[in-house]
This record gives sequence, C-alpha cells and structure tokens, in this order.
Amino acid sequence: MALFNKIDNLNTQPVSGNHTGEIEKVKCLIIGSGPAGYTAAIYAARANLNPIMYEGLQPGGQLTTTTEVDNFPGYPEGVTGPILMENLKKQATRFGSDVRFGIATSVDFSKRPFKVIIDENKLIEAQVVIIATGATAKYLGLESEEKFKGSGVSACATCDGFFYKGQDVAVVGGGDTACEEATYLAGLCKKVYLIVRKDFLRASKAMQHRVFNTPNIEVLFGHQTKEIVGGMGVDGVIVVNAKGEEKKLNITGFFVAIGHEPNSKEFKPYIETNEVGYIKTTAGTSKTNIPGIFACGDVQDPHYRQAITAAGSGCMAAIDAERFLGENGLV
Ligand code: NDP
Repeated sequence: MALFNKIDNLNTQPVSGNHTGEIEKVKCLIIGSGPAGYTAAIYAARANLNPIMYEGLQPGGQLTTTTEVDNFPGYPEGVTGPILMENLKKQATRFGSDVRFGIATSVDFSKRPFKVIIDENKLIEAQVVIIATGATAKYLGLESEEKFKGSGVSACATCDGFFYKGQDVAVVGGGDTACEEATYLAGLCKKVYLIVRKDFLRASKAMQHRVFNTPNIEVLFGHQTKEIVGGMGVDGVIVVNAKGEEKKLNITGFFVAIGHEPNSKEFKPYIETNEVGYIKTTAGTSKTNIPGIFACGDVQDPHYRQAITAAGSGCMAAIDAERFLGENGLV
C-alpha cells in the first residue's frame, strides 16, 4: 500500500526540507481546529495529555468565514466567527496545548502508536488521535457567489438566517439540507424560494411534506442559478429554466445547500465512514472503528453541524481519549 511505503521511507531516510528524520512521539494528537478540535484541546490539556494540534488548511475552521455568531452560548451580544475561534484557541493554549500550523497528509492507523505525516514531511507517532477535520460546504462555483459570501450569500441558515428576518430569500438545493434550511428560513422570512435543478426533490418524503405544506415556500423545479446580483449586498438572483428562460427573483439572502463534504479522505483507508464520507462513531461516544482513534465535530456529524454541538463532541473525544490512555496504562 502506497501509504505504508511512504511512511517506511520516512523511517529509514531523511526527507527533503527541514525534516531531520526524527520521529516526534506524542500522547495525544488532534487533527483539525474548529470548535471541536479546540474544545478537545482544552479538555485534553487540562487532563495532562499534552495535546499537539495541527490546525489544518483553514485554522479555526468553517466559522472563520462567517460574520456574526449569535447562537453560541455565553455571548449575549453575539461574537464574530474569527473572534470566537481566536478565543477558543487562546483557551486551549492557556492550558498548554501546542497548536501548530500544518495539515495531516497521510496516516497509518494499522497499529499503535499511530503514525501521522504532517505536510508530507514530518512524522508523528501518537498513542491516541482525535480527528476534528470538519466538513466543507459545497458552493455552486459562481464568481458572484464568491463576491457576496458573508454579505448575502451563506451556506448556513441556522447561523445567518436571523439577519434576513422579514425579508425574501432563496435556497438552492433539493436534498434534506436544502429542505431543512428552507423550512427554518420560512419561520423567519417573508418568502423563501427553493431553487431545485431537477423536477423532483431528493429529500426524504417527510421533509418534502414539510416544504410543500409551508405556505411561504415556493419551489422552483427545473431551475438553475445563473448569477447573484446586487451592489453592496445581494438584491436578487437570476435563475434560468430548462427552456433557457431567465427571471430575476428579488431576494436579499441566498443560501447554498447543495451538500457538505466531510474532510475524511486521508483517514478512509482505516476509518469506517458512511457512503458520503462522514466518519462513523459508536452512538453516544466519539469512538471510531479503531480503538484509540476518536472523531468529533462535523467530520462525523451529518445532522446538527453547529458550533456548539461540535464543541460538545470535542469534549467527549478528549474524555474518551483520556479514558482510553488510562485503561491502557499510557498516562
Ligand atoms: P444531498 O447530496 O443529499 O443533496 C444535495 C442537493 O443539492 C441535491 O438536490 C442536488 O441536486 C443539489 N445540487 C448539488 N449540486 C448542485 C448544483 N451545482 N446546483 C444545484 N443543485 C445542486 O446533500 P444534503 O446536504 O441535503 O444531505 C446530505 C446527507 O445528510 C443526506 O444523506 C441527507 O439525508 C442527510 N441529512 C439529513 C438530515 C436529517 O435527517 N434531518 C438533514 C440534513 C441532511 P440533484 O438531486 O439534482 O443531484
């Protein structure tokens, strides 16, 4: 297997760059740095596990791309995503977590200690690994979508829907997430357009029932998004039907709900995932199919995907890791 060859090579010969050929041995390695990873680090550090965290490509995770976060308990006036993440990071380092920039590029979880390669050149051996790599929201890939991200375009209705109270908005997608986002927004907004590219919804029957029975949701089947338009913020979206006919929907908020991609690719040779890549954990725990490897946050959660649920699962992962180390005489 290519992965093993890579790691064997690392063991026997120094690699290029700054790598010295040494192996860093750690008790607890945390991969990923959203609310799940930082909370795991806070708990692991306070339990004397001397955690080392690699923050990943987007330090702080998805929340660093949002503006106001009003639903994280403890912030009565709200807080911005980047500040919330900075605070969590400070709290983690205050107790001695070693937070580093870098990404896990490959792993060997076949036996303990587990081997993880960082940035393709540094080898870490860890007694336990906490995976907190999150998920990435998929976007349509339009230039205008990029332009209005954070000022009218969002991938999270629970996070940002409140800002569009009483206004008209659109949701794109036809799965359970899109239907859930549309019904959530219908409770806040005047009108919700659900833009569906096919002539049917992929969502579960129960979810479809909710959508069709919500009077202020209008489903536009067979429509694609051509462009999001506006000035300082969004004031409309141009949609096009199968005949090529275009129309403008006057909306101020555009919610993309075409799926998320859990960031689990590197772990898949060892860790069980569901059919779309979410890591499977034993119900009510953070335990994966490999004893000593734990998962928390969005990488294992297709249902809630909230900062606070991610943080809670990070706490669970650190406690599960601490117990595992204790049971195996490793603390
Ligand atoms: P899905 O992959 O199920 O659905 C994605 C939707 O987006 C599809 O309708 C798809 O259209 C559409 N889409 C994809 N790309 C584009 C595009 N470029 N332009 C327009 N539309 C596009 O993702 P979900 O996030 O909805 O769900 C993921 C998983 O999580 C599912 O298993 C779901 O059941 C589960 N889930 C469960 C919930 C619950 O039980 N409460 C809540 C939310 C999710 P098309 O159909 O044409 O491919």
